[in-house]
Amino acid sequence: MTFTSMNDLSSLAIANADLADVKGKVIFFRTDLNVPMADGKITDTTRIDRTAPGIADLAQKGAKVVVAAHYGRPKGARVDAMSLRPIAPALADAVGREVTFIDDCIGSDVATAINAMAEGDVILLENLRFHAGEEKGDANFAQALAEGIDLYVNDAFSASHRAHASIAIIAGLVPAYAGPLMAAELSALAAALETPQKPVAAVVGGAKVSTKLAVLEHLLDKVDVLIIGGGMANTFLYAQGVDIGASLAEPDMADQARKIMASADQHNCRIILPVDVAVAKEFKEGAASRHLTIGEDALDADDMILDAGPETVALAVDALNAAKTLVWNGPMGAFEIKPFDAATVDLARQAAILTRMNGLISVAGGGDTVAALAAAGVGNKFHYVSTAGGAFLEWMEGKTLPGVAALLGQE
Ligand code: AMP
Repeated sequence: MTFTSMNDLSSLAIANADLADVKGKVIFFRTDLNVPMADGKITDTTRIDRTAPGIADLAQKGAKVVVAAHYGRPKGARVDAMSLRPIAPALADAVGREVTFIDDCIGSDVATAINAMAEGDVILLENLRFHAGEEKGDANFAQALAEGIDLYVNDAFSASHRAHASIAIIAGLVPAYAGPLMAAELSALAAALETPQKPVAAVVGGAKVSTKLAVLEHLLDKVDVLIIGGGMANTFLYAQGVDIGASLAEPDMADQARKIMASADQHNCRIILPVDVAVAKEFKEGAASRHLTIGEDALDADDMILDAGPETVALAVDALNAAKTLVWNGPMGAFEIKPFDAATVDLARQAAILTRMNGLISVAGGGDTVAALAAAGVGNKFHYVSTAGGAFLEWMEGKTLPGVAALLGQE
């Protein structure tokens, strides 16, 4: 099954309609509360804020909502620093209801808490990954999670590339539904790659070709223009015989890069590589940089290409101008260190303008990409920005996500 065809999505919508009748039902609400923390304080509540309306809505309809999530990688052991306890007050604020924290996610304390719940109550279970059965996708653990549960809701797209017990296994034990955030994410992703308005443009940047090879291969068949930026563009330039000095690149991926270029030709997919670049001799904030035109200006042996140049951005903007849909993952350069954020920031701002003025359907995702768009001040100006990292990439690779397949398998 390929995931998120329009038919699949309409069955999810039907399933969601059933979620209206939840009064008195005990709902296991699997979500993503993996928020960044420093010194015991949450530094970014985006994930909590995004899932809270779904919880509030079910509670408002009289459901008893049992919220479950993972935090960090405790590897099957109880690690105090990875407890969800400090998240409970922030969740309560965002949901607008009291949230009772339970010290485990299975067992007698959980059963007692569920029995004592009134309609509209919300409880938060302890980190699912304190039990090894979660990441193993253990059937007995999933059965223990399903104890006393009437319905299952998955609102955690970002964890749905894992065949974990609370994601893929429990969905087969009780009636399962997509939560509102999951449904919104799936329809945005379907609009971008499954049934997109054409022409479709993709921006793929970031450090390495090797981590995004599957993404590139899948996109060739789906998009009309592929804009390649970041360190991975260096590998493509190298593969074409361009001297890239001391730039980050993967010479052993040159063959793969040439294969991708050849395959793009066959698929009528235009590839845009940097035609001009910013180079520096140091990888640090404010390093002295020079602007070079590829094919005209020579790099010194110790020059590093750290960003695409303005002519490259202009080419990319032309392509976006002609496009109806944009999918974006990965920065155009070393965007964390100024001035090498320029191409990423400029292109992101232009994409935001085209989203508003041209109706460009712009979808972006991945941890670095979210940070880059936020730094460009356009985090909320795209059609949809997914905070999912690995799940977003696997979706861009065309993979079936186990958590989504489990929901569709219910139909
Ligand atoms: P990824 O995690 O694959 O999306 O890669 C993102 C990382 O690639 C960021 O930390 C960027 O700083 C880095 N990056 C992008 N372009 C370059 C470049 N030209 N040279 C070195 N690092 C880069």
